[in-house]
Amino acid sequence: MLDLVIEGATVIDGTGAAPRTADVGIAEGRIQEVGRITAEAQERISAHGAWLTPGFVDLHTHYDGQASWDETFNPSIHHGVTTVVFGNCGVGFAPLAPGDKQRAVDGLISLMEGVEDIPGVALAEGVSFDWQSFPEYMNALERMPHSLDFLVQVPHDPLRMAVMGDRALAQQAATDADIDDMRRLLREALEAGAAGFSTGRTDNHRTTAGLATPASEAAATELAGIAQAFKGLDHGVVQLVSDFNLLQGPAGFDAEFDLVELLAKESGKPLSMTWLQRDPGGDQWRAIRSRTDAAVASGLPLWLQASPRGIGVILGLDTTFHPLMGFPAYIEVASMPLAERAAALRDPARKARLLKETSGRLAGDGSAIPPLVDLMLARIEMISGRMFPLVIKDSEGQSHVDYEPPVTRSLLAQARQRGCSALEAIYDFLAEGDGNNLIHFPIFNYNEGSLATAREMLDHPRVLYGLSDSGAHVGTICDASSSTFMLSHWARDRREGRLAPERIIEMLTRRNARYIGLRDRGEIAPGMRADFNLIDPLHVAPAIPHLVRDLPAGGKRLLQTSHGYIGTWVAGKPVIRDGQITRERPGHLVRLGRKPSRALQ
Ligand SMILES: [Zn+2]
Repeated sequence: MLDLVIEGATVIDGTGAAPRTADVGIAEGRIQEVGRITAEAQERISAHGAWLTPGFVDLHTHYDGQASWDETFNPSIHHGVTTVVFGNCGVGFAPLAPGDKQRAVDGLISLMEGVEDIPGVALAEGVSFDWQSFPEYMNALERMPHSLDFLVQVPHDPLRMAVMGDRALAQQAATDADIDDMRRLLREALEAGAAGFSTGRTDNHRTTAGLATPASEAAATELAGIAQAFKGLDHGVVQLVSDFNLLQGPAGFDAEFDLVELLAKESGKPLSMTWLQRDPGGDQWRAIRSRTDAAVASGLPLWLQASPRGIGVILGLDTTFHPLMGFPAYIEVASMPLAERAAALRDPARKARLLKETSGRLAGDGSAIPPLVDLMLARIEMISGRMFPLVIKDSEGQSHVDYEPPVTRSLLAQARQRGCSALEAIYDFLAEGDGNNLIHFPIFNYNEGSLATAREMLDHPRVLYGLSDSGAHVGTICDASSSTFMLSHWARDRREGRLAPERIIEMLTRRNARYIGLRDRGEIAPGMRADFNLIDPLHVAPAIPHLVRDLPAGGKRLLQTSHGYIGTWVAGKPVIRDGQITRERPGHLVRLGRKPSRALQ
C-alpha cells in the first residue's frame, strides 16, 4: 500500500524533459511509481492542472546561525526549496579557535554580522556554540529537528581564525604549519560528511569593525595547501566569491582568476563562483565567462552561480540602511516608531532643512556598512535612476512586487517629471503613509535597465541557480524568493525571452543536486527521495516582503513568503500545505561521502 498518490499532475521531472501528465506514488519517503497508478494509498490528492516538480536545491544560503534557532529555514521553505546548502563565501560558525571561547565566538559573530548583515545580538542569543570542531558543529545541528534537508561547507575564515588567531584578522600570510593545520581541520570535516570548502575574496565584505575578512587575501600557497584536503575523497566542492580585483584592472583580474583555477586544479573538485554584472565594471562578467569557458574546455570543472534577477538592496525607513540615514535632520527622528517617524519627515520645515544638508559618512572604521554605500550616496542623483518602488499596482488594483521595472518608473524619472531633485523624490516616497514604502535598488545585473544580462547568464551551459543568499542580509535583501521568481517571471510573466518551465525546473533541481554530490534527489523518478512541490502555475509568485521582528533578541529582518505553492513535501512528509508551514520535521543534515554502513553505525 502506498502512503500517498498525487493524481493527474503535470509532472516536470527535473531532467529537462517536456512536462507530462502522470500520477506519482509515494511510500516510505521515496517515489515508488510514476505513471497511471491504481494501487491503494492512504491519501490521494487530485492535482489536475498543477505542476509536480522535484524539491528545489538552494546551493547558496547563509543559514549557519539560523539553523540553530529556526527549525523551518524560513523563508526558503516558502519557495519550494527542500535542500539548503550553507557555509558559503568563507563565513560561518565552526571550527572555533581554541582557548578563550567567548573571544572566538565574538570574532565569528562580528564577521557574520559585517559580511552577511545578520544582527550580532540575534546570533549571540540564538546560536548555542556548544561545539569546538567542525564535526561537533555538525553533530549539534543534527540533533535539532528541521523541516528541510541541509548540507554544510567548511568556511575559510573560521578555519583561518581557529588556526592563526589574531594573525588571521591581521591578514598575515599563513606559515607552512598553519596551512598544514587548516588542511587537517578541513579533512576532518570532509570525512565527517561536510559537502565542501568555501572562501571569500571581496573588498565589499567587512567585519563589523570594518576590517577586511581574514581570508580575503590568502595567497596561492595557502589555497593550494588547503585544497590537498580533498585528495582521495569521492565527494566535495569548492565555493568562492571574489570581486576579481575589480579596481586593479585586467592584470589584477587575470591573477585572481589564476587562483580560482589553482583551487579547482589542486582540489580536483567542482568549483562554483559568484557571477554577476558589476557596476562599475559592467564587462567583468564577460571576462569571467571567457576564462571559465577556456578552463572548462581544458577539463577544469568550473561552474558559475548566477541570479535570475538584479542583485542589490531593498531600502526603506526600517531597513539596515537607506539614503536619508546620514542626514542630521533625519538622525534627530531616527529612533521614533516608524509611523511617527514618517509623519515627522512630512513636516515641511524638516524636509527643507534636510534637503540643504549633506549626508555624514556611513562606512569607515567601526562600521559594517561597505564603502560602496558612501560612494553611491555621493552620487544619489545618478544612481536614483536605478531606484524603483518595489511594489506596484496592476490594472486591477492588485499590489505585487516588480523586479524588472522600466527605467521610466525610477525615482529619478519621477523627480524629472516633478521638476525636483532625486533626493526630494526619494524623501517624499519614503515619508509616505506609515513609512512602509520600499525601494528596489538593483546594484548589480541591471546596467541595461532590464534583466537582459541575467537572461544571458541563465543560458550559459555552466550556470548554476545560486546567489539567493537566503538567511543573510536580512535587513536589506530577501532573495530567497528567487526560485519562485524563476517560475513567475521567467516561465510565465515576462513579455519576451521566457524560459521553458522544464529548463527552469532542471536548473532548480537536478543540476544543483548533482553539482553538490546528491544523487538521491532532484528528479521525479522511482527510487528518488520524495522531495517535491505541487505548484499552481497560474498564481505562483513572490509575496510582498515585509519587516518582522522575529529574530532572537527581537532583531528585525525582511521576510518574503509566496503565492501558489499548494504543497511542499520532504521525504514524503508535507512541510508546506497551502502556503502554511506544517509541524512535520523530516529534514536532516546530509553527510556526503560516507558509506551507508558507516552512516548507520
Ligand atoms: Zn554568500
